[in-house]
Amino acid sequence: MSDSAVSPAPVASDFIRDLIADDLAAGRNEGWVITRFPPEPNGYLHIGHAKSICLNFGLALEHGPKARCHLRFDDTNPTKEETEYVDSIQEDVRWLGFDWGDHLYYASDYFEKLYGFAEQLIGKGLAYVDEQSAEAIRANRGTLTTPGVNSPFRDRSVEESLALFRKMRAGEVAEGVMILRAKIDMASPNMNMRDPVLYRVLKAAHHRTGDAWCLYPMYDYAHPLSDALEGITHSLCTLEFEHHRPLYEWLIQNVEGLPGQPYQREFARLSLTYTVMSKRKLLRLVKEGHVQGWDDPRMPTISGLRRRGYTPASIRHFCRMIGLTKFNSLTDVAVLEHAVREDLNANALRALVVLKPLKVVIENYPEDQVEFIEAVNNPENEAAGTRQMPLCREIYIDQDDFMEVPPSGYHRLKPGGEVRLRYGFCIRCQEVVKDASGQVVEVRCTYDEATRHGVQPEGRPKVKGIIHWVSARHAVPVAVRLYDRLFTEEQPEVAAGEDGDFVTLINPGSLTNVEGAMAEPALAEAVVGGHYQFERLGYFYVDPKDSHPGKPVFNRTVGLKDSWAKVVAKQQGTKG
Ligand code: ATP
Ligand code: MG
Repeated sequence: MSDSAVSPAPVASDFIRDLIADDLAAGRNEGWVITRFPPEPNGYLHIGHAKSICLNFGLALEHGPKARCHLRFDDTNPTKEETEYVDSIQEDVRWLGFDWGDHLYYASDYFEKLYGFAEQLIGKGLAYVDEQSAEAIRANRGTLTTPGVNSPFRDRSVEESLALFRKMRAGEVAEGVMILRAKIDMASPNMNMRDPVLYRVLKAAHHRTGDAWCLYPMYDYAHPLSDALEGITHSLCTLEFEHHRPLYEWLIQNVEGLPGQPYQREFARLSLTYTVMSKRKLLRLVKEGHVQGWDDPRMPTISGLRRRGYTPASIRHFCRMIGLTKFNSLTDVAVLEHAVREDLNANALRALVVLKPLKVVIENYPEDQVEFIEAVNNPENEAAGTRQMPLCREIYIDQDDFMEVPPSGYHRLKPGGEVRLRYGFCIRCQEVVKDASGQVVEVRCTYDEATRHGVQPEGRPKVKGIIHWVSARHAVPVAVRLYDRLFTEEQPEVAAGEDGDFVTLINPGSLTNVEGAMAEPALAEAVVGGHYQFERLGYFYVDPKDSHPGKPVFNRTVGLKDSWAKVVAKQQGTKG
């Protein structure tokens, strides 16, 4: 797999890339492009974050030596943040193939500087300590149609605000009694400009600064100033921050002594069908045990996709496919599945595995004979070579490939009918053996010597069905997990409605543990991290957590049917 370092793949232009090109042409920032990916360490990263990661780190790669991307933890809310998340985020960004070099930062590293900027704003009469109750603040904020009302504390002296702010820092003020607010405009049509909160007292230990602070900056305050402190040139975020942009600009303009002059632009966030993406909801799925952890292969998290068998290249490819827009929309999960199929089709080794074995006895095949059949490891890649698969008198085929009373047009095995064994000869069903309950437990066949090694003798009617099989004597048992969509609805939150609960829409069939699957012998040696195509069944990945030497557990990454390729073919068909 092309899992490691990323080169700047050709990316179609978009409004952000056009903007950067204009900046470079105008000589802004001395030709530098410095971006950042700013996760809050309050959960694991998901595929939506991958969009932002591919954009920000991708831009740094595309713009060569005078460009870079920082990884910055926006850790301004001590109550929800944990070191576990900090570690997983770094692992995931690296796994996606990106590198921040020496540029790993934490907003908490800037707490002292940010505090100093707040004193500066107070000194300039641009911030004040407000002692209104939470209810009064809410009531006085006004609404979208009515202006807010100035706080009675708004015009208190600079000295008084400064003294109170210092008390807040010193831990002499209880939570919820005082806040620091910017003095902007309580009548602004933009609610974010109605004297937004800059600091609040929180008597909580922080995962990095411990008990050093009991006063924490708001995200809207810390974010632009952190950008500026790091010399970020382009601060790219999702559309919901568009209404925060005026505050971003107000802070950059009014704080003196900033080393950089970043600006913010917004792009549409990724939403995918059949899943949820907010960290709060993903946390709930984990905490309530609806899934087996953040890295459950059904989760849209990077760690879940990794365990499912997605490759970094496929996720980057997906992000290029969806591009950047300025309006929110819903992306069909089939697009993501298409991207991973393209990668795995080119790179995964082929194997024969029978999920629900049905014994087939080839009556005219000598009892003690074993032969080895050459099978192609990857038809897309000659260098992958071939392997020898044993075949003998007794084999297993999948129960789904036999029907005693089939519908018309059924091309798999049926009484009196013929199929070809993949890479091998044709067999004809002569007899069906049933147990006391009437269940078919064995099928007795004969093979046609003239069709050996895939030969199609002239004049012989062509056998339509080709099925997979394993030699009963040589096959190895393997554990297989089939995954389906986590939710039964395209948009679980919408379908659940205001009063409903999205967890009630979890797909009860999202995980099937297959018991008794049998694989060709080579798979006993499958190592963790291996990608396979089980012919006719899909792409599978050796689970890194539950596999043991000689006992691989296979997670189905994705089936073979590519509904997105069909959509694309149709579009091209109607266009051309
Ligand atoms: P959530 O809403 O799930 O809590 P968040 O936006 O609060 O996510 P952050 O850790 O703050 O999560 O996100 C880090 C960066 O990733 C931000 O710049 C954010 O805009 C971006 N991001 C988050 N979700 C998506 C998404 N679905 N699509 C694209 N970018 C996203
Ligand atoms: Mg956020």
